[in-house]
Amino acid sequence: MVPPHRPAQVLRDSGLADTELGVRVDYDTLETKWENVYAIGDCADMPASKAGGVAHQEADILAHNLVVKIKKRGEPKPVRLHTI
Ligand SMILES: Cc1cc2nc3c(=O)[nH]c(=O)nc-3n(C[C@H](O)[C@H](O)[C@H](O)COP(=O)(O)OP(=O)(O)OC[C@H]3O[C@@H](n4cnc5c(N)ncnc54)[C@H](O)[C@@H]3O)c2cc1C
Repeated sequence: MVPPHRPAQVLRDSGLADTELGVRVDYDTLETKWENVYAIGDCADMPASKAGGVAHQEADILAHNLVVKIKKRGEPKPVRLHTI
């Protein structure tokens, strides 16, 4: 069984989701059109499966990049997902 690939109902009802697949994000940075707002996991419109593995990888990369941004130290990493 494959569950439907779509974001939470609240995102669709509120208009926060730009498309049927979720909130539009920059594929490399997960930034949304709003400043300092990012979307990861099932709510993000990414060319990837809506899977826990994807959400986990995105969370690791975004957490790293936020630390780099806040501390102004280190190098941000682009999102490169590995899924089956
Ligand atoms: C049956 C099934 C099997 C799956 N099997 C796998 C698998 O084997 N491997 C895999 O990698 N992935 C699997 N997935 C996908 C995986 O569960 C999701 O991709 C993952 O949980 C997404 O994480 P998320 O944090 O983005 O969203 P979620 O885990 O959906 O978290 C969103 C949270 O927001 C909360 N929420 C919703 N609306 C509101 C609101 N209005 N206010 C406050 N909170 C709200 C929800 O209660 C939920 O806790 C499966 C999914 C399903 C349905």
